[in-house]
Amino acid sequence: MHELRLHNTLSGKTESFVPLRAGEVKMYTCGPTVYDYAHIGNFRTFVFQDVLRRYLKQRGLKLTHVMNLTDVDDRIIANAAAAGVGIRDYTEKFAQAFFADCKALSVETPEYWIRATDHIPDMVRLIERLQTKTFTYESDGSIYYRIAKFPEYGKLSKIDLTGIQAGARVDNDRYEKESARDFALWKAPKPGEHFWETEIGKGRPGWHIECSAMAMKYLGETLDIHTGGIDLAFPHHENEIAQSEGATGKPFARYWLHAEHLLVEGEKMSKSLGNFFTLRDLYGQGYKPSALRYALASVPYRRQLNFTFDGLRQATSSVERIRNFAERLRQGRFRTGSSSGMKERAAKALDDFDAGLADDLNTAMALAATFDFIREANIAMDSGDFGQEDVAAAQKFLDAFEQVFAVLQDNDAEKLRELGFAAPETKLTDAEIDAKIAQRQAARQRRDFAQSDEIRKELAERGIILEDSKDGSVRWKRK
Ligand code: AMP
Ligand code: ZN
Repeated sequence: MHELRLHNTLSGKTESFVPLRAGEVKMYTCGPTVYDYAHIGNFRTFVFQDVLRRYLKQRGLKLTHVMNLTDVDDRIIANAAAAGVGIRDYTEKFAQAFFADCKALSVETPEYWIRATDHIPDMVRLIERLQTKTFTYESDGSIYYRIAKFPEYGKLSKIDLTGIQAGARVDNDRYEKESARDFALWKAPKPGEHFWETEIGKGRPGWHIECSAMAMKYLGETLDIHTGGIDLAFPHHENEIAQSEGATGKPFARYWLHAEHLLVEGEKMSKSLGNFFTLRDLYGQGYKPSALRYALASVPYRRQLNFTFDGLRQATSSVERIRNFAERLRQGRFRTGSSSGMKERAAKALDDFDAGLADDLNTAMALAATFDFIREANIAMDSGDFGQEDVAAAQKFLDAFEQVFAVLQDNDAEKLRELGFAAPETKLTDAEIDAKIAQRQAARQRRDFAQSDEIRKELAERGIILEDSKDGSVRWKRK
């Protein structure tokens, strides 16, 4: 295993990653604000976080990962009030859609998936701690954080605080660097808005206090890793640091990892430009979850990801190539023994794969190692220079690949059905059908009936019916 190095926004450097307690990682991820369906930009960040969590586990680290659902913030309050429903009623649909989207993209469930509205008392207690330490003041029933009281304010986002007027306030949860001000920890209710009755008065939490309170509740006062998209570095994460470190006097998160944004065909995604996509929009156009996951994971997280339909089609064929190789390996019709150097070649591929991911999660490098290996192994297979004893080493490589990238298992049709989409239009050619049938026959010969049933099922899903005859031959017809 190579030394793991991660880029830390706090230091501005790529550093060796050493968790606070050897062998364990405590990680917090800002989850979605469930006021609408998540878009593919959001999932760029969530897939990056999933690749990170899978890779940490692959390295044998014991991970405690917390992801929240922001189910109360300015946008939710405003939308729920406009719709005349409670905030739980308003957010539930989007929360469920988010869970379903994660499942389709094989984004693993973190150890804790928690909701802000289940943690109001924790937020209130944290605000009280800040009050005791005089980090706060009140105005018109709201409670604000006094940034002048925290001299390190700005250390994450490196903003320039000169010229900021002491006591100037901002009430919105989201604002630009130029508007750095004292921010609201607790907001007095406006007519028609949802509020809680608490020890610090009637009202609702600001967005920033939510993550500080939830992260520290589950992970302790100092976390190893805190992640999010780059737009969260300011003000959200800067404010999380001010709140948490103000209250505890201890470092809040040791490594801050931020994913760069996804652009669509080189432009910022926006509804008015007509380039705004949810996952469902793309499934509706016939793209598969595995291709999307691959496209989102393939660009290293600190590079902007330029999402294009051409790229998505390439991702589709990359996934096919890896799946075909896995299938070829599974069929296992190789000569006995091993070929010279193939085991060593597989071990080198594994080492290169790990070197890529250890280098600040360079997924492009890890994928290059994957395709180099597949190409060479395919050439060896074509020339009969791949033996049965080489299968295990190649399979070990694919297992490591799958632990992190999670696109090998061919369950796209099933996932799409679960989301209510018909399977994509997949007309097989006669030659493709014959090849599938040959694979199935091979599986039956080695008494791998699970595999042969799987192939029959896959063909049936694509409208091909098989008829086994007594002499062992197979006929097929289209439905
Ligand atoms: P939100 O639901 O707005 O709180 O965002 C959820 C996550 O998606 C956050 O980590 C954001 O930083 C991230 N995010 C938002 N827009 C993009 C984008 N275009 N590309 C990548 N990540 C994004
Ligand atoms: Zn957050």
